[in-house]
Amino acid sequence: MDFWTRFAIHTVLVAVGLGLFLRTLYGRARALQAVRWTNLFDKIPERIRALLVIGFGQKKFLIDRREKSAGWMHFFIFWGFTILGLRVVTAFSQGWFGIEFHLPLLGADMLGGPYLLLKDVIEVFVLVSIGYALLRWLVIHPHRLYGFRPAEDRLAGQDHVEAIVILCCIGGIMITDLCFEAGRYIAFAGAGHVELERRWTPVASTFASVLPLSAGGATVLSETGWWGHNLLILFMLNLLPLSKHFHIITGLPNVFFRKLEPLGALSKMDLENGTTFGTSRIDQFTWKQVLDMYTCTECGRCSSNCPATLTGKPLAPRQLMLNLRDYLYENQDELIRKRVGVKAEEGAELPEVGKNIVGDDSVIHDDVLWSCNACRACEEACPVMIEYVDKVVDMRRHLVQEEARFPSELNRVFKGMETQSNPWGLGADKRDAWTEGLEFEIKRWSDHPETEWLYYVGCGGAFDDRNKKTTVSFAKILHKAGIDFAIFGKEELCNGDAARRLGNEYLFQSMAQMLVELMNGGGVKKVIVNCPHCFNTIKNELPQFGGTYEVVHAAELVKQLLASGRIKLRESDLAAKAVTYHDSCYYGRFNSVYDAPREIIKAATGRMPNEMERHGRAGMCCGAGGGRMWIEEDPDKRVNLLRTDQALATNPEVVAVSCPFCMTMIGDGIKAKDVEDKVQALDVMEMIERSLV
Ligand code: SF4
Ligand code: SF4
Repeated sequence: MDFWTRFAIHTVLVAVGLGLFLRTLYGRARALQAVRWTNLFDKIPERIRALLVIGFGQKKFLIDRREKSAGWMHFFIFWGFTILGLRVVTAFSQGWFGIEFHLPLLGADMLGGPYLLLKDVIEVFVLVSIGYALLRWLVIHPHRLYGFRPAEDRLAGQDHVEAIVILCCIGGIMITDLCFEAGRYIAFAGAGHVELERRWTPVASTFASVLPLSAGGATVLSETGWWGHNLLILFMLNLLPLSKHFHIITGLPNVFFRKLEPLGALSKMDLENGTTFGTSRIDQFTWKQVLDMYTCTECGRCSSNCPATLTGKPLAPRQLMLNLRDYLYENQDELIRKRVGVKAEEGAELPEVGKNIVGDDSVIHDDVLWSCNACRACEEACPVMIEYVDKVVDMRRHLVQEEARFPSELNRVFKGMETQSNPWGLGADKRDAWTEGLEFEIKRWSDHPETEWLYYVGCGGAFDDRNKKTTVSFAKILHKAGIDFAIFGKEELCNGDAARRLGNEYLFQSMAQMLVELMNGGGVKKVIVNCPHCFNTIKNELPQFGGTYEVVHAAELVKQLLASGRIKLRESDLAAKAVTYHDSCYYGRFNSVYDAPREIIKAATGRMPNEMERHGRAGMCCGAGGGRMWIEEDPDKRVNLLRTDQALATNPEVVAVSCPFCMTMIGDGIKAKDVEDKVQALDVMEMIERSLV
């Protein structure tokens, strides 16, 4: 083909292909502009670090122990595409500057040589990865790809053709590039620059050497490869914003703008000036939450780690995200028309878009939202850092605060928190009943405000009979170590963690404010906590109300006491026992506390716990998180039974926990499994106290 014919056809194709792509992309960008603004342009160095490690390093894909092969598959496809980027620019430029064009410095006699070698090799890795991906889609059929029933019935009922088409496109882009080069090597054999390129491309060169082609046939192959490569790129580009493969464009930005620490802090609603109290319409999401919707790859890692999905509840995070995305796309034009550039009169609200998305006849059913344990397992598993907990809680806020619609059993819980400052509604004067019978006196903060540490006990440790034993154990450890500590006693107030996770932000804020007044008024500076939920709220959420303290969790403190020799252990009856440890979500995924509880178990038993298959970052919730401790559960779909099964699979004699709610859930699980005579649930503080010298 002569230069000008190529030039003209190429220009038309690029103009049409690129024009259509930019038009779709513009619509998606305007939809981002139409929703709520949130400033995520802070902590830039931290964001760049995450971009490098999670985005370019593909960390989430590679650390998933149960998905190693799929992780490497994605790694090679990602890097293949990234490396091929320069080749794509070169190929498109060749349409205007001639087929021998290369980008500055990328001639084979300069940096182009090593680049060609890298591209040549990675193309093979990409092709192998595509083969493996097709095998999974067409032969292996993993649930993770096709959908978990019943929560993902809608996804599972689809034909998934798009995934196969995109995989074929990616494979085609690699093959056409190899054909372009192999054809040139045959057609222009002997030409100096072609021979130089050939030396840097062993795969294309080998391919050329086995092709039985004449110079004419090779020219046709090379031309077909060039046109095919460019056409496939343009076709795929247009498919991206219309499909789950939009993540190829939005994935890295989504990682960059992810929620940063503290992960356990939910947003503070403006109850005084706000006009809405939760999320119930598509325009009420933030632009980052909409970017999440664009970015979902439908990989299903979230759902395959979700305790609700795994126990047959109506919630699967992937399906939740896809339902929101579909609704967003259906209403994108209305969203842009009604919101972009539209100014409301002072005090007036902007026009609403679409219908209420929360409700049993709408996009997200109530029971989907109430099924969530707010455990972050989905977020931890998601390779592109999509966030769920905040969205679920935002929609729960709408249900509770705007519709007063929630499971009836929560009436008692909210009332108990309001009137007695504990979710059981037990008499507030019983809060320090656990101190009765102790052989030493525990100071009360109101009498001794000069004390170094406040031990904040929390409702679980103060009111629940089983957990009171843990509280006593921990107090004995503190006493033995000579820690200068005091408790609030009867004056202690609940911090409202459950109210916030259940969407009752109004109740939470009033409780948090009262607690901060109590603590600030008493001059508290340093707080010890032995409950992950209280730890998370006091450390991460009370600063939103002016309560900033040095907050230390019990396991860390005990680890330090052991290291400094302030407490010493002897060999106890625990020494010979097989122990497994259940990670609490609010220590683990929300606050990265993984090692300290394990190290103190080792101190008490002489060895590290036997790990469950799901442990550490991949640990599974006990079923109590997200306020579900207080919601009735279908006996056939109990998360605690599944978690207990996972613990029992390690043949333990002790299931160690570090949270009062985990203690209740795992303890109930052991009873329900009828293995109480062989297995017991113990808090790590009980294990230490039992071994104290
Ligand atoms: S937070 Fe936990 S329960 Fe909720 S969707 Fe995610 S994995 Fe499922
Ligand atoms: S939210 Fe994340 S983990 Fe879940 S399907 Fe989408 S990309 Fe995969």
